[in-house]
Amino acid sequence: MRRGLRARHVLAYSSELTAGEPGAARPAGGHVMLTDAEVVVEDSRIVAVGPRGAEPVDDVIELGNVLLLPGLVDLDALSDIDHTILDSWQSRELGLGLQWSRDYATHRRRAVFDAGERAFIREYSFVQLLLHGVTTAMPIASEVHSDWAETFDDAVAMAEAARRLGLRVYVGPAYRSGVNVVDADGTRSIYWNEELGEAGFDGAAEFLDWAAGQDSDLVHGALLPCRIETLSEDLMRRTAELASETGVLVRLHALQGLLERRFILERFGASPLAVLARTGLLGPNLLIPHGIYLDAHPLVDADTDDDLGTLAASGAAIVHCPLTSGRHASALNTFDRYRRAGVRIALGTDSFPPDLLRGIDIGVTIAKVLTHRLDAATYADYLTAATLGGADALGRSDLGRLAAGATADLVAFRLDDPRDGVLDDPVRTLCMNSTARAADFVMVAGRITVRDGVIPGVDLPAMTRRAQALFDRMRAAYSERDYLRRPAEELFPPSFPAR
Ligand SMILES: [Zn+2]
Repeated sequence: MRRGLRARHVLAYSSELTAGEPGAARPAGGHVMLTDAEVVVEDSRIVAVGPRGAEPVDDVIELGNVLLLPGLVDLDALSDIDHTILDSWQSRELGLGLQWSRDYATHRRRAVFDAGERAFIREYSFVQLLLHGVTTAMPIASEVHSDWAETFDDAVAMAEAARRLGLRVYVGPAYRSGVNVVDADGTRSIYWNEELGEAGFDGAAEFLDWAAGQDSDLVHGALLPCRIETLSEDLMRRTAELASETGVLVRLHALQGLLERRFILERFGASPLAVLARTGLLGPNLLIPHGIYLDAHPLVDADTDDDLGTLAASGAAIVHCPLTSGRHASALNTFDRYRRAGVRIALGTDSFPPDLLRGIDIGVTIAKVLTHRLDAATYADYLTAATLGGADALGRSDLGRLAAGATADLVAFRLDDPRDGVLDDPVRTLCMNSTARAADFVMVAGRITVRDGVIPGVDLPAMTRRAQALFDRMRAAYSERDYLRRPAEELFPPSFPAR
């Protein structure tokens, strides 16, 4: 069946556009805006994009006054109940209490949730992603409430939830050979357990085989070790080897903070980027959330100034998560410098809310603040990162674009909410005056997953109640991990005193 999706504004793709930046290693082609246009979909593919009625169709869906975009690609995608609401605003002293104590890591580790509850949380977060217009996701969960990291079964549950709901995922169990801890005297260090790292890696390798046997474009295996400072050099090397044998992507959090840099320098005598290079990880199949603390970053104490060039030349992509990074007091320095240097840039949400439009707006705003320039970053460049940038990082020339032959991943954001005010350029209006909650219609590989803002068959109120109960338990459990064993009320004081 050929289905016509008609919309007031359609962000179509033209292969004739080039980025126009000398030396920039960006993919040729780019987005163009069509007015009163139609996207024709047959099975899982887009067969035409152009004026309404230009192509014969069997069925028309009139989306109305919306901006129809390629589905958003989120490569550090929320797959948890919220944790940023708990861990992004404390003083340093309270913040230490949110880490595992060494005592907890050594003697009292336990999973706060059982396997069924973990599977529910992943499904709950995937529902959230779809409702915010994300069609392709590489999940990231907090491991703080796990007994170490993730298992083969966790990843299978994620893959099955994604397939049930109609979300494309690049997934695998997170693994690590160490965990950030707080020692009894309040200093930060890493607790190592190589055996658990090995077991996690074995589960990840097993999952790649399982995913390869699925024969579904909604499920792709990937290697998703946790954070660079929590991996042994051996585990990094084995990850790089397995990735090159199997051709899968690796995502590794790195260049994320100053503490990470210090730990890596102490352990390896080299910078995080140099360690990525020497273990064989740094290359076109590597995705790096968050890629911020390079040698030229103002807070990094280094005599070199070539990290940005090294990163660009390697072909690795960074996964930029402006909202979550900003909430943790970090910012890319700057989006435009990375872009002009030719670094591949994808976007991620990383935590709640999984709202890439808010992420884009805060990213543009922070770039302006850092440079004191109004043109420091454009909504167009950011939206390109959220679509074509993500697709490019995945090596998928059929995603992130509305063009004949592309996979039919689309999202329509409403532009007729009176609270949006007046309408100007649809991209600026959407990014500046609305949020991703305006997602009204989502299609993934030709399947309608969200219609009129609702996922058919999903009981959202029941999910919300269960998520709240699990969140309350998760919040209470911080106390047992705190090196001072402070009660949750002390770790999470309310905004105002209760009376
Ligand atoms: Zn992250």
